[in-house]
Amino acid sequence: MRHSILILGGTTEARQIAERLMAVDRFRLQLSLAGRTRQPAEQPVPVRVGGFGGAEGLAAYLTNSKVDLLIDATHPYAARISANAAKAASLSGTPLVALRRPGWERQAGDRWTEVDSVEQAVASLGTKPRRAFLALGRQELLPFEAAPQHVYLVRSVDPVEPPLALPQVNYLTARGPFREADERALLQASGIEVIVCKNSGGAASHGKIAAARDLGLEVVMIRRPVLPDVASFDSVDALADHVAQAFPQERGE
Ligand code: NAP
Repeated sequence: MRHSILILGGTTEARQIAERLMAVDRFRLQLSLAGRTRQPAEQPVPVRVGGFGGAEGLAAYLTNSKVDLLIDATHPYAARISANAAKAASLSGTPLVALRRPGWERQAGDRWTEVDSVEQAVASLGTKPRRAFLALGRQELLPFEAAPQHVYLVRSVDPVEPPLALPQVNYLTARGPFREADERALLQASGIEVIVCKNSGGAASHGKIAAARDLGLEVVMIRRPVLPDVASFDSVDALADHVAQAFPQERGE
C-alpha cells in the first residue's frame, strides 16, 4: 500500500524532504506551493499551486485526496498557513508533522535591534536619513513608504511591482543562497548603514548577518511569529527518519 503525503512548501527544506522521501517507494508525494513566486524552483515531486481556501478548505482537500500525513515545511514567517495546517489536521483527523527551522542566535559582535513587525522596523530606522538594505519579501515593503527620508536598497526574488512610492530606492532581484563574501561586498559597495530582515534561520541567508557582524552594522531583526505547537523536528533528516519509521514497510511489501 502506498501512503499519500502532502508537503506544504515554498522552502528549501520542503524540497529536501521531498527528495529524501521520494527514495521510499511506499510514499506517494505531492508538494504544495502558495504561488507567490513567478518562477518557483524545480521540485522533484508533483506540485499543486495556490491557496486551499483557509483551514476548512485544506481540511476538505486532505479528506478528499485521502492524505495520510501532512508535513508543514513552510517558512517560519508563513504563520497563517502553519495555523491553517494545525487546524485542518485536527478537523480532518490527518496526522501532522512540522519542520521548524531554528532561528539564528545573537552572537558576540552582533548589533541587533529586535522588533515585532515591519511597522516597528520602519520606526526604528529613526528620522535621520540612513542607507538601509531591506532583505524582505515584496509583500512586506509598503510600510517603508512612511519613511521617505532614507535611501533604500531592496532585494527580492521577484521585481517589486508597482515600485514603492519612495524617492530613493535601488532594486535588486536575486534568489539565495547568498555567500558572506558577496554580501559584504554588496553592503560596502552600497554604503549600507543598517539591514532590515527576518530571523529566517538556516545557512542560505545567513551571509548578510555574518557580514553585518564583521562590518559592525546594525541589523533590525523582525522577530518570528508564534506558530502552533505541533509535533515538530528541526532538521530535514530527523523529520524524514521519523516519517519513514511512522509508516514502516508492511510484511510482504
Ligand atoms: P501565509 O501568510 O502563512 O499564508 C497566506 C495564505 O497563502 C494561506 O492562508 C494559504 O491560502 C496560502 N498558502 C501559504 N503557503 C501555502 C502553501 N505552501 N500551499 C498552498 N497555499 C499556501 O504565507 P506567506 O508568508 O505569504 O508565504 C507564502 C509561501 O511563501 C509559503 O509557501 C512560504 O513557505 C513561502 N515563503 C514565505 C516566506 C516569508 O517570509 N513569509 C519566505 C520564503 C518563502 P489559503 O488560506 O487560501 O489556503
